[in-house]
Amino acid sequence: MSLPNPHPREPVPYRYGIAERLYLPLFVGLWVTLKHFVRNLLAGGGKTTIQYPEQRRAYSHRFRGHHILTSRPDGSLRCVACFLCAQACPAECINIEAGEHPDVNIEKYPTVYEIDMLRCVFCGYCVDACPEEAIIMSNNYDMAYFNRDQSVVGKDDLQRPFVIDPSRLGYRPDYPEERVAAHGLDLVAEARRRQEKGPAAAAG
Ligand code: SF4
Ligand code: SF4
Repeated sequence: MSLPNPHPREPVPYRYGIAERLYLPLFVGLWVTLKHFVRNLLAGGGKTTIQYPEQRRAYSHRFRGHHILTSRPDGSLRCVACFLCAQACPAECINIEAGEHPDVNIEKYPTVYEIDMLRCVFCGYCVDACPEEAIIMSNNYDMAYFNRDQSVVGKDDLQRPFVIDPSRLGYRPDYPEERVAAHGLDLVAEARRRQEKGPAAAAG
């Protein structure tokens, strides 16, 4: 018994229409390109291109850009070399070597902390995994390298964006500015104030 709609075994050659034989779809594409070119050339506003790097787009403050290793007030890295970020990293691009910290209250610190930026997929899992808020991300997307070695950034490079431009923070566990904008007050400061005032204030 033969199937009602047998799968075609022989490929059916595509038949070009008159318009395709005359290359008309090509001219339609060229017209769209020319239209956008002239509009960008003449229009004062409404341009879709920007003059990077002089001009920059205002990305979300949750943008996942170049990583930042955060510091303690004394300038030392907050990282305790627990390897949780390296375990969570799907691209396996974090390399950590741990050393014994001179302070007995801090068990370990990273003697080596490297991220291979060309392997990184900027998922932010390392930020989510970190129990110390020792790694966050910035809004910095200026990542260009002359050779493969430069793309493996170490501790110095990972601390630098925080020092250069703290206003360009990106994905991180806490967004104080968002909290204030959403509620009209800093919830943490408000909770502390109520705690200091006692149970009556907390109930009110
Ligand atoms: S952002 Fe994602 S891929 Fe990049 S280092 Fe962190 S966990 Fe790995
Ligand atoms: S998870 Fe945080 S503390 Fe642990 S190794 Fe990574 S950056 Fe350091």
